[in-house]
Amino acid sequence: MSEPLTIAVSKGRILEEALPLLARAGIVPREDPARSRRLVLETSRPDVRLLVIRAADVPTYVRHGAAELGIAGRDVLLEQGSEGLYVPLDLGIARCRMMVAGRPGAEIPRRRLRVATKYVNVTRRHYAAKGEQVEIIKLYGSMELAPLVGLADRIVDLVDTGRTLAANGLAPLEHIADISSRLVVNRAAMKVRNAAVRALVAELERAVTADAPAAEGAAHG
Ligand code: AMP
Repeated sequence: MSEPLTIAVSKGRILEEALPLLARAGIVPREDPARSRRLVLETSRPDVRLLVIRAADVPTYVRHGAAELGIAGRDVLLEQGSEGLYVPLDLGIARCRMMVAGRPGAEIPRRRLRVATKYVNVTRRHYAAKGEQVEIIKLYGSMELAPLVGLADRIVDLVDTGRTLAANGLAPLEHIADISSRLVVNRAAMKVRNAAVRALVAELERAVTADAPAAEGAAHG
């Protein structure tokens, strides 16, 4: 048999929501990825294995062909660009919004706004499109803290229920983009291993459609 196809996926919410989808395509990890310390997981399908890595690293592994496929948040793709990748499928999982947030009612400073985020490129483009000059402060996590301690006036982050913002006295102010996870495919693999890759993409597409509300309603009705 030829080498298995490798799917790179990140731990946390994306993996949690990807597992039922993968299971519908017959792909079940042999160990519980939430517990296992292994970074390469064999699955119930000998032709598919999973790599569990940081979300921001998924496009890098796929771009360089270390994984033929990957599951990446649209936030990461907007930030890094999708050069060298096909993005054939919206998996419809890990949905949220990328938003500007800040303290409601806070005075607008007379200097440039300071915006803390890990999405430096998206933030730069967002404010450039509005013709606003801002100072961007790169952070790697816990952006919600920045306005509380005077590091920044605004943050750009992912918002789902809005509870994290509310718990830190922040409110969503501007919508930047709707986010969900996308299937990404290495461009060379799409050519060299065309039949196997296309078959897997088609199976994942069927797994996504099987989860659509209309299909669910039909199944229960
Ligand atoms: P929430 O409190 O439900 O609005 O969730 C916000 C927190 O969860 C923030 O720290 C976000 O960075 C993170 N978050 C929300 N949605 C996602 C997602 N789809 N992928 C990764 N992180 C997310």
